[in-house]
Amino acid sequence: MSAEIENFEVTRIAVVVFASERSFGRTGELLAGAAHFAALAASWATVPPQTELWLLGEEYLDEALLLPVDVICHVTLQEPRLCSAEEWMPALTRLYQRRRPQAVLFCSDLAGNELAVRLAVRVGGSCMTEVSSFSMNADVLTVARGAYGSNLTAHFDMEGPWVLSIAKGAFESLHKSLHESNHEPLHEPTREPTQDKGTPEIITLVESLSDGSWHKGLELRREEAEEGIESAEVAVIGGRGVGNRENMERMRRLAGLMNGRLGGTRPAVLDAWLKHKDLVGASGNLIRPRLCLAMGVSGSGPFMAGVEKSGVLAAVNNDPDALIFKYCDVGVVEDCNAIASELERILMKERQMGSGDASPAGSGAEPQGSCLD
Ligand SMILES: Cc1cc2nc3c(=O)[nH]c(=O)nc-3n(C[C@H](O)[C@H](O)[C@H](O)COP(=O)(O)OP(=O)(O)OC[C@H]3O[C@@H](n4cnc5c(N)ncnc54)[C@H](O)[C@@H]3O)c2cc1C
Repeated sequence: MSAEIENFEVTRIAVVVFASERSFGRTGELLAGAAHFAALAASWATVPPQTELWLLGEEYLDEALLLPVDVICHVTLQEPRLCSAEEWMPALTRLYQRRRPQAVLFCSDLAGNELAVRLAVRVGGSCMTEVSSFSMNADVLTVARGAYGSNLTAHFDMEGPWVLSIAKGAFESLHKSLHESNHEPLHEPTREPTQDKGTPEIITLVESLSDGSWHKGLELRREEAEEGIESAEVAVIGGRGVGNRENMERMRRLAGLMNGRLGGTRPAVLDAWLKHKDLVGASGNLIRPRLCLAMGVSGSGPFMAGVEKSGVLAAVNNDPDALIFKYCDVGVVEDCNAIASELERILMKERQMGSGDASPAGSGAEPQGSCLD
């Protein structure tokens, strides 16, 4: 063992929760995770690590006082209001610099995941979200989390300081067993403290929202819930070959004209032409439409895992050697955007004729019917 590792010690673990019912409700489970972390770290430490609760917001301090923690850092805002993760970052970063925990644990909800990633970047730590378990060997933490749409469990070795968000349910059984030994859930108030640590030390910090933050405003917009690609009967999939966001919008119109939905490959999602929820493949949606039309898609293994259960797989690719032609039922060697334009034109015309506002058939118009029939 190197001298550096010999000196390495986890002395402090912080659990971060918002003072809201949903976030505070998971404190017991997070503290069970922290207890597990402390037990692992204790094998490599000369003194048992301390556990701290960082409570963000006005409420729940009375309840927190009854928890088995050594220190509570209670952070409130001068101008309390609904605010985004980024607005908490200056306060959270300052608190981290002041307390210097080797591990920080968040809930794996939207806010917890976002705070974890942002904090890790700011403090030069390593981050993993949705962690389902972990083990420790000296200064290396091995964490497990679901991968490929939770079809696999991936293990990652991480060097500290560690900023983790803990998957829901990961430490539920440990939480229950601690609860049974204490006779009360860890997050619910009791008349007497449930632990033998005594009343925790309280550090109160009143922070300003605007102080040091580049984030100047917050606008909340409600998105209409729409049916996703996962249940589509007809799926149009846009790949990197579609080329840009404008062309992808044409693919969306085409999907609409076919009474279908638009999904995309990973490059299309990473380029933000589509949202992450539209990703098709092993890491996203595994779909089983009657018809899947793959446009500008090469046919990689991770992508094919998402469409292999399609009734009919049709592909348009301008490379005759593209791998997807080995798997598809119908293949067209062409520019996918030219094909999409032509299909859009034909289907539009069909629609207009259906509603009676187009020129009659047989007047020199284009051939009728979808070329995919
Ligand atoms: C751990 C892991 C998980 C992954 N999970 C997923 C996943 O869930 N889903 C996913 O999609 N990928 C996933 N990937 C990525 C995957 O390996 C491929 O990189 C990806 O699927 C390729 O996407 P693509 O076909 O759009 O792009 P490319 O492979 O770049 O293919 C683009 C194709 O478009 C064709 N083309 C270019 N221009 C045109 C044009 N004008 N007209 C017609 N054709 C054109 C090209 O000939 C080419 O065949 C994963 C990778 C890893 C390592």
